[in-house]
Amino acid sequence: MKALAFCFVFFTSIFSFGQKLELVYSTQSLIGKHEIYYHTHQNLPIFNKLIKKNTFSSKVHIFDTEIRLSPLNRNLLSSDTILNEKSGFLFDKGNLISVSAFTIMDTIGKSFTLYLNNQNYTIHHISHNSNLKDTLITGSVFLPDPLSSSGESYGGSFIDSNDETNDDIDKELKEVQLYATFEDGKFLLKNKHLKISNHSAPDIQPTERTEPIFEFNRSEIGFEEINALYHISRFADYIKDTLGFKNIVNYQIAVDVYALNGGDQSEFISSTNPPRLNFGQGGVDDAEDADVLIHEYSHAVSHSAAPGTLIGYERRAMDEGLADFWAAAYSKMLNEYNYKEIFNWDGHNEFWDGRSIDNQKKYTDGLTGNKYEDGELFGALLMDVRNNIEDSIADKIILQSIYSWYPNMNFSDAFDQIMKADTLMYNSENSEILLWVGCNRGVLTENCQNIVEKNISKFNINYTLLNQGILELSHPTLNTSVKIFTLDGKLYFSKILNGKHIKLPDIKQGIYILQIDQFSEKIIIN
Ligand SMILES: [Zn+2]
Repeated sequence: MKALAFCFVFFTSIFSFGQKLELVYSTQSLIGKHEIYYHTHQNLPIFNKLIKKNTFSSKVHIFDTEIRLSPLNRNLLSSDTILNEKSGFLFDKGNLISVSAFTIMDTIGKSFTLYLNNQNYTIHHISHNSNLKDTLITGSVFLPDPLSSSGESYGGSFIDSNDETNDDIDKELKEVQLYATFEDGKFLLKNKHLKISNHSAPDIQPTERTEPIFEFNRSEIGFEEINALYHISRFADYIKDTLGFKNIVNYQIAVDVYALNGGDQSEFISSTNPPRLNFGQGGVDDAEDADVLIHEYSHAVSHSAAPGTLIGYERRAMDEGLADFWAAAYSKMLNEYNYKEIFNWDGHNEFWDGRSIDNQKKYTDGLTGNKYEDGELFGALLMDVRNNIEDSIADKIILQSIYSWYPNMNFSDAFDQIMKADTLMYNSENSEILLWVGCNRGVLTENCQNIVEKNISKFNINYTLLNQGILELSHPTLNTSVKIFTLDGKLYFSKILNGKHIKLPDIKQGIYILQIDQFSEKIIIN
């Protein structure tokens, strides 16, 4: 906090008394404004002395940086197209050097800014090729895994059988288009979100093709690469483009789908540059199951939002629960069948049990001390939030709340951050439903007696008429009025519902109006 205050004073003094600053970029995040300035000298920019200013309502955070020079053995060529030209300075070892900056595009489409000194040497450069030229390829994937898409259980022809395939499993291969890269005459499995890489044993090089067709079955090398490229990219597109968290995991993560020497595990490594994902091939190959891919990538998401905070038992269990939650949420987008089961294909079989966030665990019942089991409670809590608020709004609130995570926090602290995110982003619009969800899972204990909130009006009513006249809601509810009217408006039945099941009276066949609080719809009783 002191450092921040100091920075702020320093920054103000730059504006008030010192040199001028030149605004270079200004961007807007979901809840703040972010600007980059050059320091200047004689009214010209010093290209490698920059100030980053983050503004959140009234709070300002300043970072003043100096970029080390990066010379390049390449001068300006007559074949280069000059996109922009600007004069200024570079700061090096206490001296200011006068330079001309040329932003160019070369004949094969690469773009750089070259900083030339008075002798026309490139004493510094910036490459603008980090956004790879994406190209579409065609490939085969599971959506999200062969059991969810077929509705089958593990067994019969749906078994690992040492990575073999068969007609039934091949039927679950879905043809998709996905972004890859075309470079030097070859299609390579990398795009802006990730690159398939070989950094862990066994030594299997990423697949390359001269044609944009990558159709493999699960027994072939290449299938897991395509499956990983497709699912991680699709999930990354969802959180970055659909939800709007543009800067999250803003690097190309390195993904090895044939890793860990055949081990039956997967992992995210944050310490390498770029960070990595490793997927083992023991049992069902981990990268064949979208749940495993999204679970591991979610660790990269939380590391990106709140680096340096994965400390403390409950905080680590939260990371597992969050990763299981995103795996389930992603599965649900593809196919609702069994989406709350995590690792449907990789787990729930002879190799290991997998996990599930379809549970009634409560925080007030106590934790087990196993971060994966306790993570199932946290994941289930997040899924309750999602299923009681509109999906993408809940996802935004949850993702925003992760930025505020800190070491040694517990599940209740995490829930506080969710409530805060709702307050900042949606003006507490969802606070009552969140209160209900938090009390229900035991992460909130205060004010729980007084909840008579009828959460039912907040979510899309989803009900099923079961046998023997049982009406089942997809979500439990409190003090909710359930009424049945005849078509001419006569009240036929009225009862208060607590929970999710209610027994309807024996009604003769016909069409009626079902009213659940403010919601009403015609139903057919037969
Ligand atoms: Zn994990």
